[in-house]
Amino acid sequence: MSRTKMIAGNWKMNKTFSEGQALAQQIVNGVGDSSVATVIAPPYYLLDAVRQIIGNQSNVFLAAQNCHQESAGAYTGEISATMLKSVGADYVIIGHSERRNHFDETKKMLAAKVNQAVAAGLKVIFCCGESLAAREDEAHNAIVKKQLRESLFHLYEKEIKNVVIAYEPVWAIGTGKVASPEQAQAMHKEIRKAVGNAYSDRIAQDMTILYGGSCKPANADELFAQPDVDGGLIGGASLKATDFLSLINKRASA
Ligand code: PEP
Repeated sequence: MSRTKMIAGNWKMNKTFSEGQALAQQIVNGVGDSSVATVIAPPYYLLDAVRQIIGNQSNVFLAAQNCHQESAGAYTGEISATMLKSVGADYVIIGHSERRNHFDETKKMLAAKVNQAVAAGLKVIFCCGESLAAREDEAHNAIVKKQLRESLFHLYEKEIKNVVIAYEPVWAIGTGKVASPEQAQAMHKEIRKAVGNAYSDRIAQDMTILYGGSCKPANADELFAQPDVDGGLIGGASLKATDFLSLINKRASA
């Protein structure tokens, strides 16, 4: 099994230019030769600066938080996967629940974004996760598998290898309410099984699956100890270098 352990920080719409530079520098200085793949996802205007700060640190990667579903054209204010690649991004986050909910991103748009990213040579961090109502109705497994089938599993085998899946229960994002280690493990196992059914057991075993939703140093040990939780997609706790570095260390030693 050659699964990459990963901690990805999604800064969302936070940090000024100088604050972002300072945070990225603290992260790059702090990771050392960690075996964990660290991903930094700053807002677009910081991508180039963070790329320069990462330099040739081979265990730190750059991600964008979104891309458009078309390759170019009259889409004022948008950004294409090719543009992100040209500034040195390694990954792009697609399907974050905040984009699905606040920007009405549909399953069709997400599938097109995934295609744009893959065509541009970017790796994808694909987010999935159920609402509180779906969890209470015990529809969570069905919903998450549907999200994967509708927007991700059309990829070819050689393409899916460049995807990381992030399970982010919507009720846990930015709420301080974290999934229990058992809930996270059960869903990650279910996702891995779905990848196995859609592709192969080998691909499923190699797939990095992150947990996201109020993950912080105080609750990370138990989450990272779960056999199918390969790391975290971190929002709030990625904005403070000490917390983010602590999560990277916890992932390395779990
Ligand atoms: C996220 O938005 O991907 C996330 C996990 O946020 P938070 O850690 O703040 O819940």
